[in-house]
Amino acid sequence: MLIDRFQRQVTYLRISVTDRCDLRCVYCMSENMKFLPRASLLSLEEIIQVGRCFVDLGVTKIRITGGEPLHRRDILKVFRELGELEDLRDLTLTTNGTQLTRFAADLRSAGVTRINISLDTLRPERFRALTRNGRLEQVLAGIDAAQRAGFDRIKLNAVVLKNRNHDEVAALVAHAIERGVDISFIEEMPLGHVGEHDRAECYYSSDEIRADLAEHFELLPTAESTGGPSRYFRIPGVDTRVGFISPHSHNFCDTCNRVRLTSEGRLLLCLGQEHSVDLRRVVRANPGDDAALKQAIVDSMAIKPQGHDFDITAQPVIFRHMNHTGG
Ligand code: SF4
Repeated sequence: MLIDRFQRQVTYLRISVTDRCDLRCVYCMSENMKFLPRASLLSLEEIIQVGRCFVDLGVTKIRITGGEPLHRRDILKVFRELGELEDLRDLTLTTNGTQLTRFAADLRSAGVTRINISLDTLRPERFRALTRNGRLEQVLAGIDAAQRAGFDRIKLNAVVLKNRNHDEVAALVAHAIERGVDISFIEEMPLGHVGEHDRAECYYSSDEIRADLAEHFELLPTAESTGGPSRYFRIPGVDTRVGFISPHSHNFCDTCNRVRLTSEGRLLLCLGQEHSVDLRRVVRANPGDDAALKQAIVDSMAIKPQGHDFDITAQPVIFRHMNHTGG
């Protein structure tokens, strides 16, 4: 039965709420980002309805992502209403940190439990180059605000590329330890065409990062998990966990527990494939009808793929950018 498969497998929904790529977003460097017509975007009410239906079906963790989700107007409404869902154990957010001085306290009181903040470098000039004019100090101030707001856990996310920022992994861990936050190092996922670097040339594996870190820190494997793809390590004497998200070197598809909703209402069954269901059509054809929506969600399990076919040496086969699904 598809409902059994759904409830056995899917516990985690990631919702992308924005289609506009913030120039300070560190993930994508593509030249031809475009803004989608408002009518094609799920409204805040529609996002809330989809989120509620997933929770009714058994999902216990929702992550709000983007581009930069905090750029979406009135986005706190989504956090507040999802935050009230009793069966939702974990309401989380991935952000580039630029808006946290403004939103951190409200997000915490809306029920957000944990935040992931993108931070690939601690060098202002390198940050400006990576994010095309972003200001590092704005993100660091955002992390300060998040720490003052008192989230259960804060995690820094760093996409590491050779000859771009691989020489900073130890400094990034030291920064995380200083702040008492977690950090995850992410192998770049080959989504969308990127013009300014060769993915195969810049690939820097989790094992290479661990070897670099081992010169500075004792990394002890731990079974701790946040329900996501990170494999965590502990450093004796500090609270910081160091995680590795390794789609290439340590494939994690056999424990996949997630699906993604794009800001246009496409339910993506796998980040690394194009299998999807148009939930926007279902929502708009059956206004307010949760039963029809839940049936469409459960039926989507029939096309959930076993895993990705990422090949870092080949041209990307998935043309949507990371900022379309928020990872
Ligand atoms: S690539 Fe697809 S199957 Fe693998 S973990 Fe990600 S979403 Fe799941």
